[in-house]
Amino acid sequence: MMLKSGVNPLGMKTETLLAAIVANEVYALHGHSLVITSITDGKHGVGSYHGLGWAIDTRTRHLTDLETETIADEISERLGQFYDVVIEIDHIHIEFDAKRASCPS
Ligand SMILES: [Zn+2]
Repeated sequence: MMLKSGVNPLGMKTETLLAAIVANEVYALHGHSLVITSITDGKHGVGSYHGLGWAIDTRTRHLTDLETETIADEISERLGQFYDVVIEIDHIHIEFDAKRASCPS
């Protein structure tokens, strides 16, 4: 696992660190290295989970579309119901849904 230059982990939550560990395992299983492209840095929307330390983005430009889908599905399956894994144009966004975890249904 490595961080892209400029990626700032300040304020990253342990729940998010767990997601990074799981993502790293899944990338490795598919023969790819994990590059984190954003943690609490970068321009994200107001109220974004990035600013709160609850989200990471992982690089996908070295993956095929199929690999990206497979890896994202596997990360989501491993992390379970309190995480959201979303495929974006050039990354996978992974966030811990603290609200859902606080009030599990
Ligand atoms: Zn993101």
